[in-house]
Amino acid sequence: MLMIAKMRFFFFPAMAAGVLLMSGCQTSLPEKMGSPFKAIVKKIRKTDSAPAQPQNAPVYSGKTGTFSCGKETFSFQIGMIRTTFRGTNLWLPEAPGKGDNAFSPRMFDQVAAPLLAGGRARGTIRTVLLDPGHGGKDRGTLSVLKDREKDLNLALAKELKTQLEKQGFQVCLTRDDDRFIPLEERSPLAKKHKADLFLSIHHNAAGNASVRGVETFACTPGAGVCALPENTALAWQIQRQVAPPGSGLDRGVRFQNFVVLRTSEIPAVLIEAGFLSNASDAVSAADPAARRRFAAAVAKGVREFAGPPPKKIVKSAGTSAKGKKK
Ligand SMILES: [Zn+2]
Repeated sequence: MLMIAKMRFFFFPAMAAGVLLMSGCQTSLPEKMGSPFKAIVKKIRKTDSAPAQPQNAPVYSGKTGTFSCGKETFSFQIGMIRTTFRGTNLWLPEAPGKGDNAFSPRMFDQVAAPLLAGGRARGTIRTVLLDPGHGGKDRGTLSVLKDREKDLNLALAKELKTQLEKQGFQVCLTRDDDRFIPLEERSPLAKKHKADLFLSIHHNAAGNASVRGVETFACTPGAGVCALPENTALAWQIQRQVAPPGSGLDRGVRFQNFVVLRTSEIPAVLIEAGFLSNASDAVSAADPAARRRFAAAVAKGVREFAGPPPKKIVKSAGTSAKGKKK
């Protein structure tokens, strides 16, 4: 019976949802209505009124400027590149000045607006191209445990492939063994693999051994062909999962003119997964369990960016009815 009731809604979903909305029933749905129905109503509600568009018009209070869009706000300090968005650190590509053009239109379009608008991808994300940094004659940095960055990058990329596949993505790699690939040849491989998203995987190093944590880089707005507002959204979604506010590991979303990012025509970020010059980070990088947790967090961030996976409605209705009997 449950299945038959559901099937009716699949035949007339828009009509049923429309009646509900017109009758003012917008806060709760009857218990008997299954989740696919709720999803349809949600979808219709979403498209029912156009979402608020971020506007480049900051409101100032002292040295703090704030953009608002719906319930979301993005704040910055005059003269400071460091800011946060929903608790995650973010280093602006340039320091905001004062007055109406304090925040350059390009920085607004590429950094603030995509976050205020929800941090989501514009198109469908099906295939992810992973790029384990370095390889072959280029070993990258060396950890305090004498592990080579190129090996740790590949190990993390392979684990990330598993975790992204669990999230429903197709995954390919720029290299799946120890070989050298010039930087300029990496992101163009996206065309060959028909990839929708590019993630470059690295580990960091610093002169100061106490420095640790994660950094996620997007291409500097205006550099190369990478002028995609989605880059900031993707970097932020990943950073807040791998280094949540309060974890002590959040070194922030940053902007850099890296070759692999500026040559990418699809949303692209570069993750510096930890400092191999720091003992704690070096141990984590070499530990398979820690690597799995890190990869699962990256995959969750990518899923948040991409939005819910497409559902085959009729098939899932059948499975859920069977599942309930058990
Ligand atoms: Zn590297």
